[in-house]
Amino acid sequence: MAEPILVTKSLSRSFGPLKAVDGVSLNIRQGSMTGLIGPNGAGKSTLFNLLTGALKPDAGTVRLEGEDVTGLAPNRLFARGLGRTFQIPRPFARMSVLENVMLAPMGQVGETISGPFLFRNRMKTEEHRIRAKALEVLDFVTLGALADHPAGQISGGQMKLLELARVLMGDPAVILLDEPAAGVNPVLAKTLIGKIEELNRQGTTFVIIEHDMDFVMRHCDPVIALAGGRVIFEGTSEDALANPVLLDAYLGAPGDV
Ligand code: ADP
Ligand code: MG
Repeated sequence: MAEPILVTKSLSRSFGPLKAVDGVSLNIRQGSMTGLIGPNGAGKSTLFNLLTGALKPDAGTVRLEGEDVTGLAPNRLFARGLGRTFQIPRPFARMSVLENVMLAPMGQVGETISGPFLFRNRMKTEEHRIRAKALEVLDFVTLGALADHPAGQISGGQMKLLELARVLMGDPAVILLDEPAAGVNPVLAKTLIGKIEELNRQGTTFVIIEHDMDFVMRHCDPVIALAGGRVIFEGTSEDALANPVLLDAYLGAPGDV
């Protein structure tokens, strides 16, 4: 069996006295579409923040493709093939859709400049390359026609597609999606899910936080459930639905699911 692409060991993070993520050990299988579920406040987003370097863990480790990446900054992790989208996308509203995608940190520009004379040409070549790639990923996510629109004027669903496009600029091996379908109109949600499936078939590994059990049932295997910062379940979606411990966790939680 292939080594899991993303591995955590006893990952923990507290906010004051609150243990938001409490000793989480995970093995994310290469090529999987792993669902991460759990009631509000379970620690799902905090776990994503630990995985992507947005937060540093108090304890525990993260390994990506066999290498210890614990505590690396988000742009370093992005450069190593770990991409994530946010629960609430925040594009630069006045910039165009294309410019927003071109701004995705690819890690190369300006980092390996060899001298003042080469600088301008090099930057130009880089910009051409980035623009071409940005147009390509925008086409892939079906936003090609909106390339020149201000990003602040596109719909919520289109913003999620824009987020995916930004992530794809990094050629990620693993993509973490925080509630990709939430608040997205059904037509765009279908487009988005179709693109996720296409990428998954091509080998991209996904970890998806999603409240919509219908979505999880249909697309995710395995399913991992968090509650109170701990893993309380790992198994197939069918088993998740039939699991009384999970039911308790949801019913016992404040807020909706
Ligand atoms: P989920 O995404 O599963 O809803 P979160 O990871 O957002 O859960 O939050 C887990 C717990 O940690 C919650 O009780 C939340 O209030 C708390 N929390 C999250 N981020 C912070 C923060 N930056 N500062 C203080 N508490 C936080
Ligand atoms: Mg969350």
